[in-house]
Parts: sequence; C-alpha cells; structure tokens
Amino acid sequence: MRTRRAALAVTAVSLVLSLAACGQSSEGGSKDDTKGGEGSTIGISMPTKSSERWIADGDNVVTELKKLGYRTDLQYGEDNVAQQVAQIENLITKGVDVLVIAAIDGSALSDVLQQAADQNIKVISYDRLILGTKNVDYYASFDNEKVGVLQATYLIEKLGLKDGKKGPFNIELFAGSSDDNNTQYFFNGAMKTLKPYLDSKQLVVRSGQTQLNQVTTLRWDGGTAQKRMDNLLTKSYGSQNVDAVLSPYDGISIGILSSLRSDGYGTSAKPYPVVTGQDAEVASVKSIIAGQQTMTVYKDIRLLAKTAAQMADAMLKDKKVEVNDEKSYNNEAKVVPAYLLKPVSVDKENYQKELVDSGYLKASDLK
Ligand code: BGC
Repeated sequence: MRTRRAALAVTAVSLVLSLAACGQSSEGGSKDDTKGGEGSTIGISMPTKSSERWIADGDNVVTELKKLGYRTDLQYGEDNVAQQVAQIENLITKGVDVLVIAAIDGSALSDVLQQAADQNIKVISYDRLILGTKNVDYYASFDNEKVGVLQATYLIEKLGLKDGKKGPFNIELFAGSSDDNNTQYFFNGAMKTLKPYLDSKQLVVRSGQTQLNQVTTLRWDGGTAQKRMDNLLTKSYGSQNVDAVLSPYDGISIGILSSLRSDGYGTSAKPYPVVTGQDAEVASVKSIIAGQQTMTVYKDIRLLAKTAAQMADAMLKDKKVEVNDEKSYNNEAKVVPAYLLKPVSVDKENYQKELVDSGYLKASDLK
C-alpha cells in the first residue's frame, strides 16, 4: 500500500513537472493559456549588427528581460527586410509570448504581425515605430523630434547665429533612411528649428536640396552619405566652403567627414564645418574629441531596453503598462501608446560627464 501510494505520488509529481515543462517550452505548438508571466520567452528582432547601438540594444534587452526571469530569443535582420520578416515568422512559430521589434522597414511588417496577432502574441515597437498595422501594442522610444531640434539648435549656436552673427553660412542637410519612421521626425524637428535662418538667408543650402526626399540616406549607410557629400562638394562648392552639415546619425557623419577630408577640410586654413550626429558611437565620440565631428545626440539605450522589458513584463502579468505619450505616434492604423525618453546633446565640453561618468562608455574605449 505504502509503495503503491509512493508510486502514485511520483507519477503525479512527474505529471505536474512535465505539464510545467510544456508550459515553459518555447519550441513549436500553438499558443495556449499556459503562456504569460515569468519563464515566458520574448522574441527580439533587431535591424542590424553594422552599428554599435543595435548590438548594444540587443544585449541590453536580453539582460533586462533575464533579470525579470524571462527567456529570450534574439535575432538580427542584417538590414535585409525579407530576412527580418522570416526571422519574426520563425519566432512566432517557436511560440514566443511577446515580440520586441526594431523594424528595418517600418511598413513591411503588417502581414507577419497579423500572424502574431492570430497567435495572441503581443508586440512592442522598439525605437522605430512600426507602421500601417493595428497589431502593435506599445512603442518604446526617445523623443525623436527633439533629436532633430537638438542637432539644429547646436548648429545655430555654434555658428554664432544666436549671438547675433549674420552669416550667411553655407549648410548642407542629410537625413536617415526613408523607410524608417524616425527619419521624418529627426528631419522635421531640425528643419522647424533652422527655418527662420533659412528664410532670412543667414543659412544657405547651396545645393538647393532641402526636401526630405532629396536628402535621405538609404539604410543610414555612411558610404552612401560620403558619395552624396562628394557630389555636393564638386557641384556646389567650387570656391566656397561648407560651414555646417546637419547629419542625423554618427555613421553618416563619419562618411561626410571622410568626404570633407578628401576635399582638403580639416586644416587651419580650411577647418571642418560644424557636423552633427546621433548615438554617441565610439568612433564619433573619438572624432569629437579630436575636433572633427562637432556633436552627437546621446540616447541612453540602457533605459530604452529597460523600458521595453518592463512593458513586456507588465503586459504578460496583465498589469498597467507605463506610458507618457498617447498622442504623438499615429502609425496610420492607430495611435500607439508610447514611452518616450529624453535625448541629450553631447560635445567636447560635456562628453566626460554624460558618457563616461554615467558609465555609458568606458574612458579606455575613447583612447
Ligand atoms: C535610430 C537612431 C539610429 C538610426 C540608425 C534610428 O531609427 O533612432 O538612433 O541612429 O536609426 O541606426
């Protein structure tokens, strides 16, 4: 009798264990009521490893989710839209509970996100807004318009326009990838700030290229930006110098600076123009310290990862998801509730405090 009861108990325990194991499995199968809570798996889809920030984003999101007890499955699309879609499909098939996605092409995910919705998988749009589908639950990002405002404000101040200098100064404009929703926010924020000076002709765009569709840079590629800068210098700057370049991203700034260097900039007779950037990537911070690139916009992506992880956690536990903006990000299908973090303007004067003292970059990385 005793043995039989013990045997039954063992059977019951192993049944419970195997059921629990089923509930935690991230492999195959359709979604059921066992999902949710700690122990669930979060699928993370990042755009590319070609830029430092996205490598750190992937690592940070994994770390934050692990701290909360989740399992993770991290994929990189290598700036190939079809590859990203296939990876997300695969994450859905594996049975993840939430998807955290930084889209390569914000408009290309409607079909795959319908598949996610059919499986009751929640979706967090990470940094870049996913467009044209109601199947996006939350958006974690920065105040993207502010990024452009900070870049343009810096240019205006550095050129002395705020202090009464009249110019005219020559400026050229660059924007990010046309398929990234952030691009227009960065550009519009900058243009709205530059407008009074463009209107008064204290700032002159000698190339005449001032419309967003004339200045975008597919996939944020530095080499593409370098070629465009080469063309601008050849066609519009015979005897004149460029005084300022609005650049939306550090990788693009590095391309622009290479082009300028090849054209003889970077000497006391022909100093570099004021060049903006974004992301506080190591190469650009070094360039700022060396007096080449002038500023960057620092976005603490450690906080972004934490925000996204907390959103996933709250959704899985049916708790209130914290947001601070419920009006700015209409994705053409709905207004996506967002949590927006603050970007910070960084140059030679404050990089130590903002980037090194805060632990974002190591002093040794900048040697
Ligand atoms: C991000 C920027 C980044 C750019 C290029 C944008 O969506 O918001 O931080 O510089 O993509 O990777």
